[in-house]
Amino acid sequence: MSSTQVAVAAAVAGLGVYALFLRKGPDAADKPKKNLGSFGLHRLTVHSTELISNNVKRVRFELPNKSQPSGLALTSALLTISMPSGSWVPVPRPYTPVNSLDEPGFVELMVKHYPGGKASTHIHSLKPGDTLTVLPIPGFAWAPNKHSHVALIAGGAGITPMYQLTQGILNNPEDKTSITLVWGVNTDDEIFLKEEFGSLQKKFPDRFKAVYVVAKPDAASPHPKGFITKEILEEAGLSATSEKNKDIKVLVCGPPPMEKAMKGAKKEPGVLTKLGYTPGQIYSF
Ligand SMILES: Cc1cc2nc3c(=O)[nH]c(=O)nc-3n(C[C@H](O)[C@H](O)[C@H](O)COP(=O)(O)OP(=O)(O)OC[C@H]3O[C@@H](n4cnc5c(N)ncnc54)[C@H](O)[C@@H]3O)c2cc1C
Repeated sequence: MSSTQVAVAAAVAGLGVYALFLRKGPDAADKPKKNLGSFGLHRLTVHSTELISNNVKRVRFELPNKSQPSGLALTSALLTISMPSGSWVPVPRPYTPVNSLDEPGFVELMVKHYPGGKASTHIHSLKPGDTLTVLPIPGFAWAPNKHSHVALIAGGAGITPMYQLTQGILNNPEDKTSITLVWGVNTDDEIFLKEEFGSLQKKFPDRFKAVYVVAKPDAASPHPKGFITKEILEEAGLSATSEKNKDIKVLVCGPPPMEKAMKGAKKEPGVLTKLGYTPGQIYSF
């Protein structure tokens, strides 16, 4: 079970509270107007939406208290509780905000639509003025400078916790951690945060490196083709035996087959084991 699955299971166990919340109405739960720093359900109103690739939408929500930031800790996510039309059962799915955690008044999600996906179809259908119920859940407890180097290995929409952490580390002048990001996507179009990562690479060339691996690249794609392999991680400087990686932390977030390929299964060593990493060095969202 991944760390998020544990958090989700605990949150789902408390979903009885949701029914109570719905009966009492949003006003009872929203008083006094607090943002997302405390545990509990919050109902957020959609401010605006923007389609940023053929299947990824940016959805910007208004926070209850417009003068304050969300109050979320670095790498925490929002467990969204969707009620897709015609469904009687709430659908809980985690999404990680991508706007700066310091921004007052708003929280922003980037949601990839999966055909037939219950939550992603519902969230893509939301319009300004619609609401979505969310429950903040913790992620990896990041401590600045505990590791001199962090490896972020993402697949598809699993990039969002990595983007939030990258922003949090690089925008904190006290945190000197170096970051190597390896992001596997299906097509070149799916590198939807390329500009944002590009400007961080320009600003922090000695501390931040990003490698994109594309399963089905365009003919002119400059990126390595295929899935994330041991060789690609070695080329990115992520061999466990390298001196600069002696206190490294490796964070992984992606679809189940990609996570399995990285972490392995009971009798099958994963790519990270083959590179020399121990389970204690790896964290899976
Ligand atoms: C910590 C964490 C943070 C996340 N943050 C984001 C985020 O910011 N943005 C985002 O878009 N997603 C994010 N996800 C994934 C998200 O929580 C959902 O799993 C995803 O949106 C699919 O939910 P669904 O209800 O639409 O699909 P489901 O109804 O669960 O599944 C529908 C179909 O889609 C396939 N599918 C489901 N998930 C995936 C996947 N990840 N890759 C490939 N196929 C899949 C299923 O096999 C199934 O066929 C995050 C996941 C975690 C664990």
